[in-house]
Amino acid sequence: MSGLSVRNVTHRYGPRTALDAVSFDVAPGRFCALLGPNGAGKSTLFALLTGLLAAPPGTIAVAGHDIRREPTRALARMGVVFQAPTLDLDLTVAQNLRYFAALQGLSDRIAAGRIDRALHRLGMAERAGERARALNGGHRRRTEIARALIHEPAVLLLDEPTVGLDAAARAAITDHVHGLAREDGLTVLWATHLTDEVRPEDDLVILHKGRVLRHATAGAVARGAPLTEVFLGLTGEAA
Ligand code: ADP
Repeated sequence: MSGLSVRNVTHRYGPRTALDAVSFDVAPGRFCALLGPNGAGKSTLFALLTGLLAAPPGTIAVAGHDIRREPTRALARMGVVFQAPTLDLDLTVAQNLRYFAALQGLSDRIAAGRIDRALHRLGMAERAGERARALNGGHRRRTEIARALIHEPAVLLLDEPTVGLDAAARAAITDHVHGLAREDGLTVLWATHLTDEVRPEDDLVILHKGRVLRHATAGAVARGAPLTEVFLGLTGEAA
């Protein structure tokens, strides 16, 4: 399985079980929405996937690399956009990406080509020379997504990437990332608590209290009903 594979993953914080035998796969080129209300376990799963928390019971594989047996290879194939903003606001858009490329050990020539491509991909090319501080929230987020592509990952993880953005910026970012899956073949895991970011053809994992309640395409989960209603009915919480 060359996308993302999560098998029987459990995590406890002391007596509290945050994830309880969570299993799902995301195939290459698929956009998978990880949908769950606050406290569902989304951030915990991201922390496990990205190695912030120690490898859990169960198995996680990124592009075929088990994170316990081959952590360096697994992490190298992963692009991550964390919930908290991480740009250096005093640097320009291009400088932020160049800095990341240098950390990855890329030559200036290779970095320049990849930065150019990533910024074009996210519709940010004309802002390359602007300071991050001058950008609105949506453009900052797009810069972070572009940066997450520089090392050419196979799997892109985004933890509630639209939090705090207005409707237009949310829609633009959601569109861009769907395009990355559909057109560039990236495997995308997109954590959210907002049903309107999920499209019928997307894979959908509904997580609630650390358990997977549903895993199918969003269309198959909703079966003609509004997804918000289905989600509310399953979790008993406002979407
Ligand atoms: P989500 O990202 O879906 O909101 P989290 O992964 O943050 O969910 O939380 C899952 C559960 O684990 C919640 O019950 C939360 O209170 C608990 N939790 C999260 N982080 C910690 C922590 N550092 N210590 C103890 N409990 C935690």
